Amino acid sequence: MLLTAASIGVNATAVNVDTLFTSATVYGHPNAESVGISDGIITFIGTSQAGRLVKNADTEIIDLRGAALFPGFVDNHNHVFEAASEVGGGCEVSAKASLLEQIPYLQFCRQHAKRGQWVIGYGHYLESILSDDDEMTPLEVLDSIFPDQPVVIMEQTSHSMWVNSQALASVGFTLKTDDPQGGVILKDDDVMLGILLDNAGDLVMEKAWNSLKGKFNQSYDGLISGLQAVAANGITTVGDGRLYWKRGWYDVWRTVEKDGDLTARVSIRPWVYPEGDKQAQLAFFKKIRRDNPTQRLLVNQVKLYSDGLLENGTAKMLAPYQETIIPQYPHGINYISQRDMQWWLQQLSAIGYGAHIHTIGDGGVHESLNAIEAAKQAGSTQDYALTHVEFVDRADLTRFKSLGVTADFQLGSDHVLHAENKTATRLLGKHPERDAIPIGKLYRQGANVSLSSDWNVNPLSPLTAIANAVSMGTRGLPSLAAAIDAYTINPAKSLGLDEVTGSIELGKSADFAVLSTDISNLSPRQIKKTQVLMTVLQGEIVYDAAKTSH
Ligand SMILES: [Zn+2]
Repeated sequence: MLLTAASIGVNATAVNVDTLFTSATVYGHPNAESVGISDGIITFIGTSQAGRLVKNADTEIIDLRGAALFPGFVDNHNHVFEAASEVGGGCEVSAKASLLEQIPYLQFCRQHAKRGQWVIGYGHYLESILSDDDEMTPLEVLDSIFPDQPVVIMEQTSHSMWVNSQALASVGFTLKTDDPQGGVILKDDDVMLGILLDNAGDLVMEKAWNSLKGKFNQSYDGLISGLQAVAANGITTVGDGRLYWKRGWYDVWRTVEKDGDLTARVSIRPWVYPEGDKQAQLAFFKKIRRDNPTQRLLVNQVKLYSDGLLENGTAKMLAPYQETIIPQYPHGINYISQRDMQWWLQQLSAIGYGAHIHTIGDGGVHESLNAIEAAKQAGSTQDYALTHVEFVDRADLTRFKSLGVTADFQLGSDHVLHAENKTATRLLGKHPERDAIPIGKLYRQGANVSLSSDWNVNPLSPLTAIANAVSMGTRGLPSLAAAIDAYTINPAKSLGLDEVTGSIELGKSADFAVLSTDISNLSPRQIKKTQVLMTVLQGEIVYDAAKTSH
């Protein structure tokens, strides 16, 4: 009998494959064992027998020996630029220490700090250093150790900064200064506390960052380390957490791309500054836009913050907080108000940008959905996602599907496994109706649901988040298939890349995560132990565990 391609079930668009993966379990293709690629595109999916027909003398064979070929993971929200960076010298304070317990950490930073220059640190939790019992304010503690140089220490969450008097002076903040848009200058009985919430802190950090010497090279090295970690976790596409373009980050990205070191496809998302000249920002966005999906660096979505963070009292809530450090803002605050967001989304749509919007509170979610609705009514066809989405008003649950808005969640930390969010109960009061992180509800309402790491706020591994998504009962996702979709094809859709990546299909980019075992039938515990053996982007092996020494 003559074997023809059709007779043995060959599923191929070309017969000249340059690379053939064999002896694999192929996710989404139960009868296939081989996948062939030509010039970075998947051109063959079929049995081993059929695979023999499409290879030629020059075909490179990669025998996966029973390992599982998965679509490369798509991480919809990842601070790959910042996560592994040591820019600023890395004054690391304690995540657990109280205000006075931080003193030895600060003294250590002072010993290693260059006099006359900014000290940039990170690592505390606001709650731990703000206590009524302390005799000193956070400002006094910093001033006592750093009397003659400006200091800014970013909270672990990045949503507040602990600063000294020199840092306050650098941006002209005094007791009389009004809170800047999207931020709060924390005061207590007419005393400055040295704590700047959200955008008030961002303004100081911008100053500090731009004063640094050698920041390009340090940023470059940080980005390369970040990209290596991303590749080692099977991630082939990244939606950038934010591009602080006024800090020179865009040039770093372009250089990494030009040097051929971009080992992931990255949609970098320029940050919309809540204050400052809107037209100048638009002009910059227009200049840097690019959306050729065969390129690895894409720029067609912005990052925009609707609100802040629950713990700071800056997440925008529909009902007032019961406990807050900023009683003057009982519902929280906006980085960008609904009215401004509406303006931004329409202007951005006109120059070819969608948006990835930070929303934590149900008020922030509600206002952002309103702004998107207005943009769509005005004719926008761009992609929009809300990320974090910790609280959603019941009436808004159906709007994600009807407006075509992606809901993006981070499930990488095990605290998501607990049904009750104790901080929410303390700050907002008990509401039996309220789900923190309502991913299950939104999924059931038909929303496009994506998962992301928010690295390094959360761990990087997609496998951990996938395992957690199916460990949350009805609060989570109903099946492993749904959880895998949420880390592959759904975020690809959110990035406007679902024709290019997110599944193993003929004509799509050869973006793979090779896993030690097929996770489709594993328990959550086993999934967390599964290893990424190899990561392939556009047919190029960007990570190979066998060649990486541990
Ligand atoms: Zn983030």
